[in-house]
Amino acid sequence: MDRAEILNVPVDPFTMVGTVAYLENFLQRKEQALVVTANAEIIMAAGKQPDYLQLIRSAQLVTPDGAGAVWAGRHLGYKIPERVAGYDLFHRLLDKAAEKHIKVFFFGGKPGVAEQAAQAAVKLYPGLEVAGCRNGYFKETDEPGIIEEINNSGAEILFAALGAPKQEFWLHRHRGVLKANILMGIGGSFDVLSGNSKRAPLWMQKAALEWLYRLCCQPRRFGRIMGTLPPFVIKVLLSRKKQ
Ligand code: UDP
Repeated sequence: MDRAEILNVPVDPFTMVGTVAYLENFLQRKEQALVVTANAEIIMAAGKQPDYLQLIRSAQLVTPDGAGAVWAGRHLGYKIPERVAGYDLFHRLLDKAAEKHIKVFFFGGKPGVAEQAAQAAVKLYPGLEVAGCRNGYFKETDEPGIIEEINNSGAEILFAALGAPKQEFWLHRHRGVLKANILMGIGGSFDVLSGNSKRAPLWMQKAALEWLYRLCCQPRRFGRIMGTLPPFVIKVLLSRKKQ
């Protein structure tokens, strides 16, 4: 299926089920896939940082994460079947990993949070093997040790929760030496899974209002969202005119 292009950022128009099946292929073939979950913030950041854009363009999978990305894709004339949010895909992959005995590694978050998230994950998905956990605060000199720990764990899926764009740059920089097949940045997902932070209620997610929840309930995001969403909408509207 053809990739959509939103402000030069490619987005894969797959359903959630199709996305999981697509990634399962990489696991079966023992090939590596870098996964980026592209929301409006990431798309705007890519427009300002050529190396970030290049990195995303080289990713094997870019999902439409967020109402903004889905709206933009559809507005530009692409068939985007549904939103594929990073947090939801994270859960689907945990479910698949438990079913197929695929080891996962939790990398990122404040000290102790990855372990708490791993405990919650094992409760939700019995049989899941979390091969290792490592917090996301480190010096450059720690990186070879972290990579060794991840590789020695035998994990086939690496979830990196360092926030965007740090997680994508980290995974991309080390992908040549990382042995895991799926490398996926998942932002604050360990905070949510561990219960340290909350996601919008389901009705808001379904009404494409998760951004509004974040705006109202997570004041630290206010500036980020207001500085990103309106300019994103304007840029997409203008880019359609140019087409
Ligand atoms: N984080 C980290 N290392 C860092 C900076 C951030 O592990 O050097 C973690 C932080 O603890 C949080 C996550 O990255 O769990 C970022 O969460 P946020 O919700 O801000 O990310 P987003 O989903 O917006 O990318």
